[in-house]
Formats: sequence, C-alpha cells, structure tokens
Amino acid sequence: MRETKKTAVPLGIRHGDLVKVMSGRSKGKTGKVLSVNRVKHTVTVEHANIIKKHTRPNPSKNIRGGILDKEGPMHVSNVMLVCPACGKHARVGHTALPDGTKVRSCRRCNTAFEK
Ligand SMILES: [Zn+2]
Repeated sequence: MRETKKTAVPLGIRHGDLVKVMSGRSKGKTGKVLSVNRVKHTVTVEHANIIKKHTRPNPSKNIRGGILDKEGPMHVSNVMLVCPACGKHARVGHTALPDGTKVRSCRRCNTAFEK
C-alpha cells in the first residue's frame, strides 16, 4: 500500500475506466470508476463496496434523508485496470508514442489505452 501524503499524485486509474476489484468486500467485481481521489489514493467503483450512507434531508439540494446504499471509496491498490484490448486486468504502464506524448498502456499486451 502506498503511503498517504497530502499531495495529489497520479494513480494510473482515471474516472470512467473499467476496473476489477482484486481484494476487499467486493472482490471479483468489475465496474466503472465513478470518482478518483488523488490525495487519499482512493477510487469509487460502480456497484462495488456498497455502504449505507446516513443522510440528512437537504431540501435545497433535493436530497431526501435516510439510509442510502452508496458506493464507498476504496484504496487504489485494491483495484486493477481492465484492459480494453485483451480484456484482462493488468498493471498500467507508460508508453511514449512516436510523437513523444506519453500514454498509459497495458503491461500485459502493450496496447496503449488512449489516443
Ligand atoms: Zn491488454
């Protein structure tokens, strides 16, 4: 596990990525990344790590009070990116394109993820 510092660090996983949960309560689940906290090194994954959130009613934000099921944050080390090319969970590498821009890539099949 990475040490938690107060500065934002790139995590390799971004909002909208498809990830697989490798450990914890939602182990084995695959879902889209809903949010990334680069300071706390946590991610929120769709349908994974569901927590009961006790909310207070807030009429101005149209929030009803009560206990809601909500995705909870989990540490990035608990999830792995699912490669769109080979369909397997993989570590994230960085590859430089011929024009010099760096992109994330799959360490399993070496396919660049974006652009
Ligand atoms: Zn791959």
